[in-house]
Amino acid sequence: MARLVMKFGGTSVADIDRIRNVARHVKREVDAGHEVAVIVSAMAGKTNELVAWAREAAPLHDAREYDAVVASGEQVTAGLLAIILEGMGVNARSWQGWQLPILTSDAHGAARIEDVNGEELVRRFRERKEVAVIAGFQGVHKTTGRITTLGRGGSDTSAVAIAAAIHADRCDIYTDVDGVYTTDPRVEPRARRLDKIAFEEMLEMASLGAKVMQVRSIELGMVHNVRIFVRSSFDRPEDIDPMSNHPPGTLICDESEIMEQQVVTGIAFSKDEAQISIRHVPDKPGVAAAIFGPLAEANINVDMIVQNISADGSTTDLTFTVPSVDYERANVVLKKSKEQIGYASLDGSTDVAKVSVIGIGMRSHAGVAAQAFKALAEQKINIRAITTSEIKFSLLIDAVRTDSAVRTLHTLYGLDK
Ligand code: ADP
Ligand code: ASP
Ligand code: MG
Repeated sequence: MARLVMKFGGTSVADIDRIRNVARHVKREVDAGHEVAVIVSAMAGKTNELVAWAREAAPLHDAREYDAVVASGEQVTAGLLAIILEGMGVNARSWQGWQLPILTSDAHGAARIEDVNGEELVRRFRERKEVAVIAGFQGVHKTTGRITTLGRGGSDTSAVAIAAAIHADRCDIYTDVDGVYTTDPRVEPRARRLDKIAFEEMLEMASLGAKVMQVRSIELGMVHNVRIFVRSSFDRPEDIDPMSNHPPGTLICDESEIMEQQVVTGIAFSKDEAQISIRHVPDKPGVAAAIFGPLAEANINVDMIVQNISADGSTTDLTFTVPSVDYERANVVLKKSKEQIGYASLDGSTDVAKVSVIGIGMRSHAGVAAQAFKALAEQKINIRAITTSEIKFSLLIDAVRTDSAVRTLHTLYGLDK
């Protein structure tokens, strides 16, 4: 007998038929004798609809009420799945975040889980053989008692947090792909499924744009050493042997469990970046602080930064990226500080994309990035900015060239199947 967390994303619970299919996956594990906690997302498209309603009601709304609205999608699917499970003769009940409770910070819209009480779930596994169906994405603030949400894609994080709290043997993430691929299979059909990927690599992949797992869920998995297994919800439940150790999927695990480490593991991309260039900035101490201080105060995250050494020793250009949702705000902040910074002009673009190459093997291999520069140059893809770290490098390019850059790099590093 094992204790399992099973998480199902939006496409997997998109309508009642699919929820029935999910229920059959759950029943399979229950029949095999396992203790099961299920985490569900809202039906596909539901959260987008709720977000749009909140914006339509008032573009600048109270974040606490935003959370009250958008958390409702998960409440519906949790209830529906519990009803269907009961109808199949499986003992089940639904739980909302506040009922467990899942305690979070008060950063409404992007709250962090601080504590999860799993005791009642475990007691019910033992005493009633009851399946817990838990609404993902939501929690409750520990002192105000108000409903919070964990940021888009947050049900992954709910699942890993519950797995840690109940000491689950495994946290299965059922989604619309059968694992983590070398890059988004929607962009590169030749992408390959990875059998295993190290936490650190998955963390980079997720932060750099691969939305298959929410970043925070991987951080939690790493800290609590939760075995996360990404697999497809579209396989027929009856075709899967619950006792088999090798269903198709990707295990996200500790680096030490991976025998054959490639130099490059995967490629991620993000179109949610915007570039800002500040021209003719005085080249003197304190200027970077004058630029990035006000942006930080406005809660705008700056990512890639490129500064030229000035030729004449007096002024230089500075280019950096911000999330594209913050582009307008960043411009306003910088215009306000124009005199303090003392630049000549400001320009920028939201038509840019960041393409990143990730692999633990880069720690011990030199020249990996240099190969990319050459290959992209041959495709006439211009690189606007570069950043590197121990296990990844990122390139800023024109957004229209994203797919072409991803495919070029995928082939270059031998990732095509
Ligand atoms: P869910 O609704 O189940 O949470 P998501 O839409 O959040 O599912 O995540 C799954 C999607 O992530 C896939 O459909 C795929 O297009 C995308 N994706 C991006 N990068 C990758 C990758 N490297 N491997 C697998 N899927 C990826
Ligand atoms: N329903 C939420 C979203 O669409 C959470 C999730 O699906 O993980 O972001
Ligand atoms: Mg998701």
